[in-house]
Amino acid sequence: MKYTNSLSFARTLDKKDSLRDFRKQFHFPRVNNKPAVYMLGNSLGLQPKTAKNQIQQELDAWAEHGVEGYFKGRKPWMHYHLQSKKILADIVGAKPSEVIAMNQLTMNLHLMLVSFYRPTAARFKIIVEAGAFPSDQYAFETQIKFHGLDPDKVLIEIKPRDGEYTIRTEDIVATIQAQGNQLALVLIGGVQYYTGQFFDLKTITQAAHAVGAFAGFDLAHAAGNVPLNLHDDGVDFAVWCSYKYLNSGPGGIAGCFVHERFESDTSIPRLAGWWGYDEQERFQMKKGFKPMKGVDGWQLSSTPVFQGAAHVASLEIFRKAKFKSLRKKSVLLTGYLEFLLKEIDPQERHCKIITPSNPAARGCQLSILCKQNGKDLYNQLMKGGIMTDWREPGVIRFSPVPLYNSFEDVYRVGEALGRIIGGR
Ligand SMILES: *Cc1c(COP(=O)(O)O)cnc(C)c1O
Repeated sequence: MKYTNSLSFARTLDKKDSLRDFRKQFHFPRVNNKPAVYMLGNSLGLQPKTAKNQIQQELDAWAEHGVEGYFKGRKPWMHYHLQSKKILADIVGAKPSEVIAMNQLTMNLHLMLVSFYRPTAARFKIIVEAGAFPSDQYAFETQIKFHGLDPDKVLIEIKPRDGEYTIRTEDIVATIQAQGNQLALVLIGGVQYYTGQFFDLKTITQAAHAVGAFAGFDLAHAAGNVPLNLHDDGVDFAVWCSYKYLNSGPGGIAGCFVHERFESDTSIPRLAGWWGYDEQERFQMKKGFKPMKGVDGWQLSSTPVFQGAAHVASLEIFRKAKFKSLRKKSVLLTGYLEFLLKEIDPQERHCKIITPSNPAARGCQLSILCKQNGKDLYNQLMKGGIMTDWREPGVIRFSPVPLYNSFEDVYRVGEALGRIIGGR
């Protein structure tokens, strides 16, 4: 598309946007008594207006039925996890039996590492991206130590080449091949939280499998943001949170995927709880763990229903908007932001976009590396009602989200940036 740096152009795109009304289904925070331009869906997605009602319904069910709410009411809690299965499966490209909403992200990552990182004397290495999200780094470190191993000898961190900001797929594949039969696991973020790079899950998975290793992904920044095909790509497992692009509220219930090929494999070690026990016999309270088929067998506890209700409220909106349409708009929206940034600072004197320019290699987020006074730029944006975030040592992340951001929002970002940079 040929973009123009003007408000009227942005408004024309909004008029043509079939998804434009979804914005009305969300609460926007206010800055200076005006709705903010919210570019932080990568950090905490906005609240759907229906969330309150969904949670209220469960409060009502609890008031009315007490513990009988597990079997009565519109959505009996006994099977509450089923409410989100189908739409989650659509969002991550899986079968409903392969996905579940449970726990929180780091917890699910630990559960998956227990099951899929089983080091032996010969095969014990893990390939990760350098600068992974801190929680993931702590999970890797402590899991490795839990097995009595030394993280320095186990972890292989892949970095961008000198002078580059993102990691080349060919470098990931070459590293996998170089580790060969010492490699136990590849575990990478689907979309890198700092650079916004969307990795090639299929190629990475195939390369890992070719040397006999597992491939898992942390989809915190990918779920609800980029097209995923976990089943067809053959990914072994994946985890994600629901409070970023899935708009399910702070600390919301997380997600987990385990590929169908493991659905009846009871030889995989796991940490278990009663909610993962075969549903037919769960309340016979027998000795000896007998897992449910598929990823449901990794559940530990009964579903946190209020978190689940907020999740369902948001997923219902995804169902109506359709992911394909969201992605189409997302590519245009982020493309517009990229165009504006390049117009404002063509020589990259103030900032450089470090997110890949190929739309297939990114989601909605653009990360800009600030060359001077970055923190000041960020502070001024926030003061002007443009909500973004600052990530040390020098990046501002912008995430125009197709569900609730408009082309006018993106235009406003450009306008504010132009004003601040122009005044320097
Ligand atoms: C947001 C994020 C987390 C956060 O973990 P929680 O357990 O949800 O607090 C972890 N890993 C990545 C890659 C993230 O982006």
